[in-house]
Amino acid sequence: MNSPTAKATDCNAAADTKVSNFLRQIIENDLDKGTYASRRWAGSPGDAAHHAKGEPDPAKIRTRFPPEPNGYLHVGHAKSICINFGLAKEYGGVCHLRFDDTNPEKEDTEYVNSIIDAVKWLGFDWAQLGQAAGSAAPYQASDYFDFMYRAAEALIEAGHAYVDEQSAEDMRANRGDFGKPGVDSPFRTRTVAENLARFREMRDGQLADGAAVLRAKIDMASPNINLRDPAIYRIRRATHHHTGDKWCIYPMYTFAHPIEDALEQITHSICTLEFEDQRPFYDWLMERLCECGLLAAPSPKQYEFARLNLTYVITSKRKLAQLVNEGKVSGWDDPRMPTIAGLRRRGYTPESLRLFADRIGVTKSDSWIDYSTLEGCLREDLENKAHRGMAVLDPVKLVLTNWAEAFGSDGYTEACTQPALPHSAIAEGQTPPADRTFQIGKEVWIEREDFEEVPPKGYKRLFPSNVVRLKGGYVIECTGCARDAAGNVTEVHAKVIPGTKSGTPGADSVKAKAAITWVGVADGVQAEVRLYDRLFAEAHPDAGGKDFLQSLNPDSLKVVTAYVEPSLAGAQPDQKFQFERFGYFVADRLDHVAGAKPVFNRVTGLKDSWGK
Ligand code: ATP
Ligand code: MG
Repeated sequence: MNSPTAKATDCNAAADTKVSNFLRQIIENDLDKGTYASRRWAGSPGDAAHHAKGEPDPAKIRTRFPPEPNGYLHVGHAKSICINFGLAKEYGGVCHLRFDDTNPEKEDTEYVNSIIDAVKWLGFDWAQLGQAAGSAAPYQASDYFDFMYRAAEALIEAGHAYVDEQSAEDMRANRGDFGKPGVDSPFRTRTVAENLARFREMRDGQLADGAAVLRAKIDMASPNINLRDPAIYRIRRATHHHTGDKWCIYPMYTFAHPIEDALEQITHSICTLEFEDQRPFYDWLMERLCECGLLAAPSPKQYEFARLNLTYVITSKRKLAQLVNEGKVSGWDDPRMPTIAGLRRRGYTPESLRLFADRIGVTKSDSWIDYSTLEGCLREDLENKAHRGMAVLDPVKLVLTNWAEAFGSDGYTEACTQPALPHSAIAEGQTPPADRTFQIGKEVWIEREDFEEVPPKGYKRLFPSNVVRLKGGYVIECTGCARDAAGNVTEVHAKVIPGTKSGTPGADSVKAKAAITWVGVADGVQAEVRLYDRLFAEAHPDAGGKDFLQSLNPDSLKVVTAYVEPSLAGAQPDQKFQFERFGYFVADRLDHVAGAKPVFNRVTGLKDSWGK
């Protein structure tokens, strides 16, 4: 049914023709000017942890992808991964995978492992991209806690930080708002010695959680609220998944992040637009720490791009966690989830996600991407790769009543063959895959909707006296049906027309009105097929502060018992197929057992059915 006329094209080749964007221009400019040519590890007296990972090559750019290990990565992160690793690869540079693990209560090694999996699966191997020669271990912010602590003391000593002991409410009230400048804390004028002593008490566990914070001393009247003496260290008695109970104070993200970048000699620190207002603090901190002699210029620079917003999809780890925790989905890798693990299980390929990232590009203004764009990339990738196969999703038995008369016995079966890929999907010089083989016999499964006793106008499939082809098999003439007491069709009846088999000289001797898909009763295998649909019924499920749980699509999963041809039943987990007429399906990574228990997930239909 789906036989495109275009010749096979390589979807990776299309992705290789890069369109310029503002990030590429910045990088090319820096490479031309040699902005980072003077970088040396030796210039930055940081901890051994990063020194061990090799000298930076001054001719190279360094980017990083810095997830917080507090959930599984989603399709928005995939965009960020493709940008950061993609740019490093393109310009012969390096990209660090770095865990921003400064928030011990919410973090977990399960998340760490899932992130490593996701990045590798997307096709980016940081070990090969120049990081940590001989070591595949990702970077982690917690490796720098000692350095961060020293940096905090250095700021105190230079009069750039103070320990504030206002109550949380006072601190909030005194911060002011967009229309109102903040008010100085009564603790703002403490002496260096007093601040240092108090900060060490914080570190040594002598103050209760929340009793004090260390704040940068910048400007309580700044129009940028992020510069109104932001907190840089807080007290939290929490066991860290990596440093255990060594610390009871932890750096704030806004303080930790620029330091991580600097210690790793990142050149271009690329993040999403919501961090734009943080950039002045990023630069402030870099300048102060260079003045203190703790870091060496040139400092990394932050650049922001628009995050991915995808219709019908939520890209907030917190809300995705809520779906998992409240049992709305089966887990982080539920095939309806927009997590990388979920998309993978749904049947998305790394190639399709990379193509998607290329196609949506990088901009500085927020916009919505239609979900159909993502699906389109998958179809484009699978069109020439996914082997074809027949499955009957809503089966009713078709009995060929003259079978024994035509072929000698009711038990006779005959092999039919069909190509695994259509001719159009085979690239020049490529050897076509072996044909599929399946058996036709007296009884076959057909779709319930392919028979109508009284056909509606224009109906070309089975109705009494109509002639159709069983795809790849014989032409048949429908004679009627059997019904149960309730009137439901229990069997469809037809006569086979001998001599009309596909691929034989007599194939065209009888004109068929339509070709229908089918699976032989003799060799068809029962399969569980999970028909996934969009998880949310609304294009913008969390717009305007509405409760996104109210927008859940009650019909996002329908499980049916289907019959599939033998080539499908023997699939390996994760193998993708095009079920003829229905769309793309994947053998479930976890539940499918080749030859024993076929379980397929619907990835997407053949045509776009979104946003209409
Ligand atoms: P969430 O907001 O879903 O909780 P996050 O931004 O807090 O995600 P991080 O682990 O901090 O999660 O994200 C790591 C990187 O991924 C950051 O640089 C962030 O800017 C980027 N990122 C997160 N969401 C998106 C998105 N929707 N589109 C593009 N990049 C994103
Ligand atoms: Mg974030």
